[in-house]
Amino acid sequence: MAHRLVLKNFRLVDETMNRFGSVVVEDGRIRDLIPGPAPALSGGRVIDGGCLGSAGEPPALLPALVDLHAHFRDPGLAEKDAALPAETWVLQETWFLQETLESGSLAAAAGGYGTVVCMANTKPVIDTPEKAGLLKARSDALGLIDLYPALSLTRAMEGRELSGVRDLSRLPRSGPGTYVPRLLSEDGRDVAGDGIFLAALAEARRLGLPVSCHCDAGGAEAEAAKGAGQPREVWSRIEENQGTRRAIALGREAGCHIHIAHVSTGEAVALVRDCKKTVSPGNGPAFSLTCEAAPHHIALTGEDARRLGPESHGRVNPPLRTEADRRALIAGILDGTIDAIATDHAPHTQAGKAGGAPGFIGLETAFGVCFTELVREDGISLSRLSALMSAVPARILGLGGDRGRIAPGFRGDLFIADTAAARTVGAEPFKSRSRNSPFLGRELRGVVLMTIHGGRLVFNAPVGYT
Ligand SMILES: [Zn+2]
Repeated sequence: MAHRLVLKNFRLVDETMNRFGSVVVEDGRIRDLIPGPAPALSGGRVIDGGCLGSAGEPPALLPALVDLHAHFRDPGLAEKDAALPAETWVLQETWFLQETLESGSLAAAAGGYGTVVCMANTKPVIDTPEKAGLLKARSDALGLIDLYPALSLTRAMEGRELSGVRDLSRLPRSGPGTYVPRLLSEDGRDVAGDGIFLAALAEARRLGLPVSCHCDAGGAEAEAAKGAGQPREVWSRIEENQGTRRAIALGREAGCHIHIAHVSTGEAVALVRDCKKTVSPGNGPAFSLTCEAAPHHIALTGEDARRLGPESHGRVNPPLRTEADRRALIAGILDGTIDAIATDHAPHTQAGKAGGAPGFIGLETAFGVCFTELVREDGISLSRLSALMSAVPARILGLGGDRGRIAPGFRGDLFIADTAAARTVGAEPFKSRSRNSPFLGRELRGVVLMTIHGGRLVFNAPVGYT
């Protein structure tokens, strides 16, 4: 007997569709798409959109989101949370995990995500196919999301010798027990030496894998600005702009796919836009360029950082920028320069944040933030948002034929959103073990009600959620 799930009476939205209808998922894959009011559909579990939405609007059914950039801190070490009274450390030995594979996966599912790339800057660093494969196997056993651990470019992210990326081309591409990463990245730092960076890019080219570049190699100019006592907002801008230039130049030289992580300055958006004009399929070797923006850079500015504490709860790399930069990101989204939205979900303890640890959690708020800012404020269509958060990132990972769309044969990875409802961030406890969200207390439109992974319900919002 096939495992069957019927989702009827929804607004079906993906990158090419926005219409009323129903979807039948069988054995983990979308089997049928039925436009218009649902006929009598029987067999299996039924979720009726007519019983879910608020304000008489049918809720939206969308392909599950795909995140190109998250930190699950697993494997890792617990931190003592200095925000808790010292006695509790002694008496109860209270140690706090910023995140685990389990909590990160629950947070992702609650945010509408079905596929997540987690970065390699854990303890130990994910720098061999074996370590990546172990993490992948643990995630598969949980079954909440599809996790694709990224592989670092250099061993222990020390920038000295290549990571196990060299061994990847010797591994079979599929089969039981094999895991080939879909993205390579040194995440929080650039590889400093051009020679070793190019060697890693040559491996990426051979494997046909994208390399996500953090872009913070600011060179002499950024060092000079730092030395002259300039504020972070000045030298970090030079770092991002120079780092972006360098990643594009080296990617061109190596002929591989460069993916620029968390673009945040107007200049970096312009660099990507100009570069894309010169790259066309079949033009030279396999150089291609994509980029992502993070919800916090799309929605917040340095004003918010000052309110939250620029060196504590408002701190993130790259920093929250100016309103002009924020508008440049939105212009980049509108004209297609920005390909994808990625969370850079970065859990930290309260003590860590107070001490200046950079980054925000984002998996549980990304859809609401983007729906509120882009769809409600800037008139971007829900279909375009679905492309930015689902179909395009799936294609960047080489999974475009498998997920990110609502069409027969695609995976039954879907989520239900009430686009008429609003929710205050933090009103429900986060699934993430951390709570370092810059959106705490904000009311966001567009509420994730349910998430379906491989045809099975993995998140169901509590009653009274909206
Ligand atoms: Zn990151």
